[in-house]
Amino acid sequence: MKIVIAIDGYSGTGKSSTAKQVASRLGYTYIDSGAMYRAVTYYFLSNNIPFKKIDDLKEMLGACDISFEGTSVVLNGKKIDAEIRTMEVNHNVSPVSAISEVRAKLVEQQRKMGDNKGVVMDGRDIGTVVFPDAELKVFMTADMDIRAERRRKELEKRGIIESLEVIKENLKERDHIDSTRKDSPLVMASDAIEVDTSGLTLTQQIDKIVSMAESIIYEN
Ligand code: C5P
Repeated sequence: MKIVIAIDGYSGTGKSSTAKQVASRLGYTYIDSGAMYRAVTYYFLSNNIPFKKIDDLKEMLGACDISFEGTSVVLNGKKIDAEIRTMEVNHNVSPVSAISEVRAKLVEQQRKMGDNKGVVMDGRDIGTVVFPDAELKVFMTADMDIRAERRRKELEKRGIIESLEVIKENLKERDHIDSTRKDSPLVMASDAIEVDTSGLTLTQQIDKIVSMAESIIYEN
């Protein structure tokens, strides 16, 4: 039996790296829902669309086609993996994600991607809104200092040098906006399992979730 695995949690807790490897170990499809919110943000920024001032964004969103090629995110036919990971996108993505029209469009697409099960999706509202019936829900947490240092290293690998203070402020700001927005706020689903990754290596995080998944898969 194939299942749906929802991995939610705060920014910088290692959700994406973990989810990607869990999917690969199980032979499942990995879907990075945050990349989709980042793609919409990049679309608004690169087309100078004043998203904070527009009441009805539906028409503009209609011209914004997001898909995946493997794990690469594609916006209107162009791969934009590097473009969606800049500090400019980091600063604007949470306000964009709080817009209900944006969420409605992306959630509909995400649900279709999970139709045949066999997916691991990470984000903020996957276990609560996108797949409330997911067979396995994980909620990842980690200490702020550890999260900031992990994010700093990740940016550095891509040639972006940023101070820990600026990174920490951005993580805190995104957590705040994500947890307090009206539409689909970041909360742990009541049936999710919390995994604190502060003291875990990436391999340990992956092993833990794969073994949770396997026990559900083989039970059924
Ligand atoms: O996962 P990542 O940090 O790349 O997500 C970027 C942002 O996208 C989050 O801070 C949040 O504002 C938004 N997001 C969301 N719902 C999701 C995934 C991401 O609102 N399911």
